[in-house]
Amino acid sequence: CGIVGYIGPKPAAKFLLDGMSKLEYRGYDSAGIAVYDGNRINVEKSVGRLSSLEKKLDGRFPAGHVGIGHTRWATHGRPSDVNAHPHADCSGKFVVVHNGIIENYLHIKEQLIAKGHKFVSETDTEVVAHLLEEYYQGDFEAAVKKVLSEIEGSYALVFLSQHDPDKIICSKQDNPMVIGLGDGENFIASDIPAIINHTRKTYILSDGEVAVVTNDSVWVTNRQGVPVSKKVFEISWTA
Ligand code: GLU
Repeated sequence: CGIVGYIGPKPAAKFLLDGMSKLEYRGYDSAGIAVYDGNRINVEKSVGRLSSLEKKLDGRFPAGHVGIGHTRWATHGRPSDVNAHPHADCSGKFVVVHNGIIENYLHIKEQLIAKGHKFVSETDTEVVAHLLEEYYQGDFEAAVKKVLSEIEGSYALVFLSQHDPDKIICSKQDNPMVIGLGDGENFIASDIPAIINHTRKTYILSDGEVAVVTNDSVWVTNRQGVPVSKKVFEISWTA
């Protein structure tokens, strides 16, 4: 339902939780964040309000400068800690947050189970993380594009990989996604209120676009890898 992402010099968790609070107006049933600590990706999630997640964290924000966060409005699988996003693959090295519905998830899930993947949640989203693990052959971006060519449905998706932690990759189809352009840092969100206190310069992603976001660059292509030149959209209104 609500998506945020951060890459830059500041503690990621602080922006993620603040950004998620700015998206609370959309309604949600659970919340979670994933932050890369320089060694591994730590996932913290909880059913209920953002305050439940914060209570669980008890002031111990996961450390790190790159991370993604999500407030969930359940469509597949009841609201629960396990079904909350971010979702990870078996190795925990790929994490994903997702708005929307993966229509062909059952088919993909059956194929992945046959290949030995173990699923822990009831969500449509979890297949995306496992599929990424399945397709990864040393090139994070190539694996994401292969995943996107396989899934059907509506989505705003954000990917983080322990193999390649200097970037966040995101894409969208029939769900909004905006990238906030900062100075030595960049922001990702499903809606402008999450980033407006940090930057007014944005790229509004169009359907089928894939953005590779680092702390000082945003590289946008289509799903086939053809570069797309984006115009900066300047937010003129106040929050
Ligand atoms: N379909 C996903 C789920 O049920 C995402 C729901 C959302 O958009 O928050 O977990």
